[in-house]
Amino acid sequence: MIQLSERLNAMEESATLAMARLSRELKAQGKDIISLSLGEPDFHTPLFIKDAAIQAIDDNYTTYTPVAGYDDLREAIAKKFSRDNGLNYSKEQIVVSTGAKQSIANVVLSLINPGDEVIIPAPYWVSYIEIVKMAGGIPVIIEAGIEQDFKINAAQLSEAISQKTKLFIFSSPCNPTGSVYSATELRSLAQVFAKHPNIIALSDEIYEHICFEGSHTSLAHFDEIFDQVVTVNGVSKAWAMTGWRLGYIGASKQIADACNKIQGQFTSGTSSITQRAAIVAMLEDPSCLSEMVDTFRRRRDLVLWYLKKIPGVKCNLPTGAFYLFPDVSYYFGSSDGTQTIANGDDLCMYLLRVGNVALVDGKGFGAPNCIRISYAASEEQLKKAMERLTDALAQLSR
Ligand code: PMP
Ligand code: GLU
Repeated sequence: MIQLSERLNAMEESATLAMARLSRELKAQGKDIISLSLGEPDFHTPLFIKDAAIQAIDDNYTTYTPVAGYDDLREAIAKKFSRDNGLNYSKEQIVVSTGAKQSIANVVLSLINPGDEVIIPAPYWVSYIEIVKMAGGIPVIIEAGIEQDFKINAAQLSEAISQKTKLFIFSSPCNPTGSVYSATELRSLAQVFAKHPNIIALSDEIYEHICFEGSHTSLAHFDEIFDQVVTVNGVSKAWAMTGWRLGYIGASKQIADACNKIQGQFTSGTSSITQRAAIVAMLEDPSCLSEMVDTFRRRRDLVLWYLKKIPGVKCNLPTGAFYLFPDVSYYFGSSDGTQTIANGDDLCMYLLRVGNVALVDGKGFGAPNCIRISYAASEEQLKKAMERLTDALAQLSR
């Protein structure tokens, strides 16, 4: 028996990817599964981006690139940060990686020593915790329930800070809740960070363009903490490029250099072809995304309409990303006569077995009373899924 590392054994499999794998396997067996498990746009990558990739191959962009990314890509990202977020990063402060997931891992591995505390508001995206644990860090969780729209406040943040706090990680718009912090809410968090200049805040803004009310504010926008913030973003969500694998950070030069050093030993940088394609995405005016945002808004309303009619289900009104995160704890302890539903995992498995709908249990997101619905699917699929979900839940009695 091979002895795997303690590091590996302490790590959970990604709950999102595990459910996506399971639904793929069931589909391959011929089951009519509707998967609302993965946070992946159902749109195709825009043609002008695909064309740039084809051109890159024709132009022989097929060799190693600078580890932190091509200079002209980093310049394009600097322009994007300035145009969309009002942030002035120089090219040297930008590092391009193999997805935002790797960008986050680079930052955590660059900063965290064993025993360092990392504050993470729950609900959180599944990978934050596992990456922190892999680095030997100690996740310190701030609970933000549905009654506070899943957002923490400045008092909660202050209370969670200790001598050992090194890093804070959050996403706005948030995966899995769809909550978006307003500029005022972010300002109050920024004021707390300003009192603790040794703490770094990682602001994951990968859903920045998917906002249904007002516009997105970057945490680094508050000048007094600009150097303390690492802004993470990528092309997966806005440009429907999940498989291309490109994420990036804007950060202080010291952190950018550290991330560059790490990926120089891990990956040598992301694909040359993806990088050439990302340049045209970065230079495009994001107002062309408004149609996609409208589509997501309609889908959110559609799924909410069904959810509101289901007895016992509690839901907030998410104003961004493409997730709903209902509290389904009302069904814990219920049964369909053959199986008792003890928790969210049982409920997701029941909905998969009886309703043929794949969702993700909230436990991996730090909210075991909830389940996540990704509404990045067609309206037709969503209607069918929600009818199946409604019927399956109606068969449960308490
Ligand atoms: N952050 C959040 C909040 C996400 O939902 C995801 C999932 N795509 C990522 C980061 C990672 O994105 P990427 O595909 O760029 O690795
Ligand atoms: N971020 C997406 C999700 O939450 C994709 C899966 C993943 O990378 O974990 O579903």
